[in-house]
Amino acid sequence: MAKDLSPSDLLDLEHLLSDEERAVQDTVREWVGDRVLPEIADWFEAGEIPSRQLAKELGAMGLLGMHLDGYGTAGASAVMYGLACLELEAGDSGIRSLVSVQGSLAMFPIWRFGSEEQKQEWLPKMASGEAIGCFGLTEPDFGSNPAGMRTSAKKDGSDWVLNGTKMWITSGGVADVAIVWARSDDGIRGFIVPTDTPGFTTNDIHKKISLRASVTSELILENVRLPEDAVLPEVTGMKGPLSCLNEARYGIVWGSMGAARACFESALEYSKTRVQFDRPIGGFQLTQRKLVDMAVELHKGLLLALHLGRMKDEKRALPEQVSFGKLNNVREAIDICREARGILGASGVTLEYPVIRHMNNLESVLTYEGTTEVHTLILGKALTGLDAFQ
Ligand SMILES: Cc1cc2nc3c(=O)[nH]c(=O)nc-3n(C[C@H](O)[C@H](O)[C@H](O)COP(=O)(O)OP(=O)(O)OC[C@H]3O[C@@H](n4cnc5c(N)ncnc54)[C@H](O)[C@@H]3O)c2cc1C
Repeated sequence: MAKDLSPSDLLDLEHLLSDEERAVQDTVREWVGDRVLPEIADWFEAGEIPSRQLAKELGAMGLLGMHLDGYGTAGASAVMYGLACLELEAGDSGIRSLVSVQGSLAMFPIWRFGSEEQKQEWLPKMASGEAIGCFGLTEPDFGSNPAGMRTSAKKDGSDWVLNGTKMWITSGGVADVAIVWARSDDGIRGFIVPTDTPGFTTNDIHKKISLRASVTSELILENVRLPEDAVLPEVTGMKGPLSCLNEARYGIVWGSMGAARACFESALEYSKTRVQFDRPIGGFQLTQRKLVDMAVELHKGLLLALHLGRMKDEKRALPEQVSFGKLNNVREAIDICREARGILGASGVTLEYPVIRHMNNLESVLTYEGTTEVHTLILGKALTGLDAFQ
C-alpha cells in the first residue's frame, strides 16, 4: 500500500534504501539529535567545538573513514557514507566537515597511496578518532589553482625537508597528523606530517562568520624534516590530491541536502504556526510557492545524491559526475536556506532557529572542494572538449 506523503520524503526515497542503509541513517540522525542539536547554536556562537571528544564518538560509531575497508574502518558502501553525511550536515556543516576531512581527505590518501607500514601506523587510530587528521593543499596564493603551489619538498640525504604555508585548513589546529602536498623535483608529492614535528606550527583563523563550529587554520612549515618514508609512495602529481577531493565532494553532494532539509523543515513548521493577517503565513499562495520550490529542489537533489551513490558503489561514478552533483546540490541548498531564512522573518536571523547558521555555513561549502565556477568549468570542458582553465 502506498505510504502517506511525508514533506521530508515526498518521493518516498526511503523505499529505495536497504534495511542496513536505513539503520545507518537512523543511527546517525539519532546521534545528531542527542549530541549536536542541543549544543550547536552555542558552539557556533562561541566559534568552538569539542573536536577531540566528537572525533572519539564519531569513531566509536564507525563513521570515520567508513567507506574505506580494513585497518579498523567500517567498510561501508558509498550510499551509507552519503546517508551519514546527509544526517551529520542536517546537524551542522562543521560536523560533517570534521568527518569528511578525516575520512576522505586525511585517511583516504593513506589508504589509497600509502605503504603498508603507513596504513598500519595511522589508519586504526584515525578510524577510532584517537588521532585527528587534516589535509593541506590550499595556499595563500593558490586556491582554485592548487597546481601552482609553492610549498616545497627537498631531499637532504635520505630525509625530506618541507617549507611553505598552507591556508584555510579544516581541523589544522587540532590535528595530530597533516597530509601535506608539496612540490618536489619529481612533481607534487603527498607527505604524512605528524603535527609535533619541529618546524610545524599552526594559527587558527578567527572572525569567520561561516562554519564557526569547525576549526580552520593556517599551517606553517619551516624546515620540517621528515624521514624518507614520510612520503606517500604510490602517487606523484595532482591526481593525488584531486582523487581525495573527489571523495570529499561526493560527501558534500549528500551533506548539502542535509542542511537544505533542516532549513526546509524549519520553514515549513514556522509557516504553519506563524500567524499574520489572521492566518498562518503558510496559507498564503506566495509562501506555498516558496515551500514547493524548496521541496522540489530538495528532493531532486536527494535523488541525484542517491543516483551518484549507487554509481559510486558500482565503481562507475566519474569525477565530472561528482562535479555535477556538487555544483547542483550546493547551489540549490544555499537557495533553499536563503528562502527559508526569509520565511522566518526576523526570527530567521537568530541562532534560535538553525536556518541562518546553515545558510552561512553553506557559503564555505560553496567555496571549498571546488567553487561553483570550478565545477562549471569542469563540466564545460566535459561538454565541449575545450579547457577553459588554460
Ligand atoms: C571554511 C573553509 C575550510 C577549508 N578547508 C580546507 C582544507 O581542509 N584543506 C584545503 O586544502 N583547503 C581548504 N579550504 C580552501 C578552499 O578549498 C579554497 O578556499 C578554494 O579552493 C577556493 O580558493 P580561494 O579561496 O583561494 O579562492 P580563489 O581561487 O582565489 O577564487 C576566488 C574566486 O575566483 C573564482 N575563480 C578562480 N579561478 C577561476 C576561473 N578560472 N574562472 C572563473 N572563476 C574563477 C573562484 O570561483 C572564486 O569565486 C577551505 C576553505 C574554507 C572557506
